[in-house]
Amino acid sequence: MCIFCKIVDGEIPSNKVLENDDFIAFHDINPSAPVHVLVIPKKHIDCFQEFSAEDMAKATPFIQEVTSKLGLDKTGYRLVTNNGSDGGQEVLHLHFHILGGGKLKWNHYHDDPKKAI
Ligand code: 5GP
Ligand code: ZN
Repeated sequence: MCIFCKIVDGEIPSNKVLENDDFIAFHDINPSAPVHVLVIPKKHIDCFQEFSAEDMAKATPFIQEVTSKLGLDKTGYRLVTNNGSDGGQEVLHLHFHILGGGKLKWNHYHDDPKKAI
């Protein structure tokens, strides 16, 4: 079972922000911003490339509820999903990063192919 499926099952604890029948939002263990929350579907899906339009339609209002709960709807935030190797995806269970709580840098490409961004 993957690490995020274990979080869904409660086998690994998480600092939850919000949950419904289909998704969980919890704080990232190694935050890259003052606020860094992950949103995952409860059913295992490898990556965004495998995510259906129907499921995305359910994810949208959930993510918006999370950002409102965190107050980021007022101040702004970044919504990111890393897809596959070049995207820097480390956990192969689809997750959306919500980053906020301060001004964010915009820097993507790393010219050393061995290093993640
Ligand atoms: P990726 O690089 O796959 O887009 O992002 C994976 C994210 O999951 C990273 O930001 C990492 O800090 C976070 N992460 C990995 N393992 C755990 C965990 O057990 N708990 C929590 N809360 N976050 C995790
Ligand atoms: Zn999983």
